[in-house]
Amino acid sequence: MRLSLLLAVSAAALLTACGGEKPAPAAEAAKAAIGTFGIDTAQMDTAVKPGDDFYKYVNGKWLSTFQMPADKARYGVFDVLRDKSETDVKALLEEMGKTPPAAGSVQQKVVDLYNSWMDEAALEARGTEALKGDLDAINAAKTKADLVKLMGRFDYSGPVGLYISPDPADPTKYVVNITQAGTGMPVRDYYLTKSEKFDAYRAAYKAYVTKVFELIGDAAPAKSADTVIALETKLATVHWKPEQQRDVQATNNPVDRAGLKKMIPAMDWDSFLAVDGLGDVQHFVVNETTALRDGAKLLDTQPVDAWKKYLAFHIASDYSAYLPKAFDDASFAFYSKAMRGIEQQRDRWKRGVGLLDAQIGEGVGELYVAKYFPPDNKAKMDALVANLRTAMGERLKTLAWMDDATRAEALKKLGTFDPRVGYPVKWRDYSKLTVQPGKLFENVRAARQFEWNRQVNQLKGPVDREEWGMNPQTVNAYYNPLMNQITFPAAILQPPFFDPNADPAVNYGAIGAVIGHEMGHGFDDQGREFDEAGKIRNWWTKDTNTKFVEATDKFAAQYNAFCPLEGACVNGKFTMGENLGDLGGLEMAYTAYHLSLNGAEAPVIDGFTGDQRFFMAHAQVWRAIQRDDALRNQILTDPHSPAAARGSIPERNVDAWYTAFGVKEGDKLYVKPEDRVHIW
Ligand SMILES: [Zn+2]
Repeated sequence: MRLSLLLAVSAAALLTACGGEKPAPAAEAAKAAIGTFGIDTAQMDTAVKPGDDFYKYVNGKWLSTFQMPADKARYGVFDVLRDKSETDVKALLEEMGKTPPAAGSVQQKVVDLYNSWMDEAALEARGTEALKGDLDAINAAKTKADLVKLMGRFDYSGPVGLYISPDPADPTKYVVNITQAGTGMPVRDYYLTKSEKFDAYRAAYKAYVTKVFELIGDAAPAKSADTVIALETKLATVHWKPEQQRDVQATNNPVDRAGLKKMIPAMDWDSFLAVDGLGDVQHFVVNETTALRDGAKLLDTQPVDAWKKYLAFHIASDYSAYLPKAFDDASFAFYSKAMRGIEQQRDRWKRGVGLLDAQIGEGVGELYVAKYFPPDNKAKMDALVANLRTAMGERLKTLAWMDDATRAEALKKLGTFDPRVGYPVKWRDYSKLTVQPGKLFENVRAARQFEWNRQVNQLKGPVDREEWGMNPQTVNAYYNPLMNQITFPAAILQPPFFDPNADPAVNYGAIGAVIGHEMGHGFDDQGREFDEAGKIRNWWTKDTNTKFVEATDKFAAQYNAFCPLEGACVNGKFTMGENLGDLGGLEMAYTAYHLSLNGAEAPVIDGFTGDQRFFMAHAQVWRAIQRDDALRNQILTDPHSPAAARGSIPERNVDAWYTAFGVKEGDKLYVKPEDRVHIW
């Protein structure tokens, strides 16, 4: 069970997105940072009727005039803040560079890792030397047993993936999860969909795999690429679809070691698990059962030589950013350009900041918070979160579709919600991480090994509830159902999400709905399967369960009908959790806003009522443009709906939105009252 984020960010995206628009201005005392009250009304298109296209009404001028930066796949409000966070971190690095940090300190590791990234000349001079040990080990493999030992290494690819999380059966302890893995393209559709568009993606992949083989000195690069892609296609064929992977019950299969061997007999588990510190582990959760069983069978049915090609390609591809430029360029040409339409690689320093985020994130985060996160912001955010919790409690008490037994359980769960704002109370200890000047490849591998070892060591003890799964400098938020925790990093607590000097309607419509979104994950189609302790337990009566499923089916249909590209419609089932978070978040934030008014009428500002400003603020945070290939990629791989859907479909279900903008039958977004979906 993974975290539910506000917005997806892949590791690749960390290294390939961003750059462009000016950073958002810093808040001045007692004046909203954006516009007169927190919304950039100059970007609206008031010629559009709100009831026909609300997203365009709020964002239309920006949408029609903003030019996509050459180094981006999408650009919007989140990206403006990400740019700002990168610039802020760069300023920190420059300060650190002025007085060399003490040897062995976190600062020294941050600076040395960053400098080893920036030293492109050293990278070129080393050539493929850093890969030699891996390629030799792969070359020396002769049997399936040799392959399994290689695949057991924490950074090697194969049909079996591992991750560690709290145990759904007892979330006070950790468990090793076993998950389907091993394809170079993100999901099975890229291998299997029959269309010209997907033929083109596959041709680009073939060119990429071939190029990597050329660069590592393979004798027959094109033939080796065919071998690897044929093998991956077999793997993709048995893989579960992303919407199946979201099925909490189907992916929760606890087994002991004997059960694991029986369930997936083609893998030599004792050998595989011993390689990277899991030799003693006896308890596991298997996720995609049939995909793992049949994927592992390929170890027997496919030649050892084919798997050797596969391993060689993957280790070179996975570390391409830390090898000479030709590797990095080839990876960009496929993963960024062909797959997502990005025209230009982003500035190296920005990717360096992304590398720090990924590998030594809290080492940077501690300094970031000290410089950029005012203590007062944390106090104000804590108060907002408390108001949202009260609002959700009020709503839970009056939901007509829910019976009292289920309601009591839901309120119990709301009572144990654990909100964290800004930064962790305890910072990660990087003392066991070694960073060497001038050795980028080794540094990245050491950082990854450090993180794996850290998690393996945790298996012995109780779950650490103070740990954060995101850095303070990250513009995002998340819910963890196994801990019933909602987490809001410092970097998202900035305008236009949160501005202590903006109109309260704007803060509730923006960060309020974000807080509500994360709380809503506790009750979405996945989160509702976990109880107040984060344990997987059915606390629903049969009747209330039926009503929930009926409502969510109706809700999914609204998203299924959202088709931004020909042949590419949102998958309402796959995106259900995020969509429920968005709808619940908006409803909760609206209730919280009205509770905050204490019965008083909100003032009219610049001609807009309080309710209008609330909904406009919500649509403003989802303002974004996206390249077509990136949009297609998002629809297939990302459980979040496209921004244009997130900034308009929830509104269509909220009665107050109709009243606020006078939306009537005949308007394009109008939904009959009986067809609107009200869940949380
Ligand atoms: Zn979410």
